[in-house]
Amino acid sequence: MDCLFCKIRDGQIPAKVVYRDEVCLGFQDINPQAPTHVLFIPLQHIATVNDLTANDRQTVGHLYTAAAQVARERGHAERGYRLVMNCNGDAGQTVFHIHLHLVAGRPMTWPPG
Ligand code: IMP
Repeated sequence: MDCLFCKIRDGQIPAKVVYRDEVCLGFQDINPQAPTHVLFIPLQHIATVNDLTANDRQTVGHLYTAAAQVARERGHAERGYRLVMNCNGDAGQTVFHIHLHLVAGRPMTWPPG
């Protein structure tokens, strides 16, 4: 399977890893949209949110608690931050291994473009 984020997980492509545990990996986005922009991926390959099953509930929850931990450690908890998971073309998903964006460190607007 030719998946960019599986290659990052396996160390075949370099990344600035900021979080790692037995379920997920967090690494800096290569094109950061804010002072903090970290992507959290499950170690297990899941292409899109459409592919999630009930068995993945803990894994997805894990991505959120990992992201909240990094946000807290970086001092973003009080001012706030955004967690986003894009699904397919209209939402702008470009890498088909689910990933939770942690974006923080500047004020943001809503709705997103
Ligand atoms: P998406 O648009 O939600 O699929 O987000 C994909 C993200 O992956 C984008 O924010 C990209 O900047 C990021 N990205 C693409 N290639 C790499 C890479 O090699 N390392 C780290 N981040 C990447």
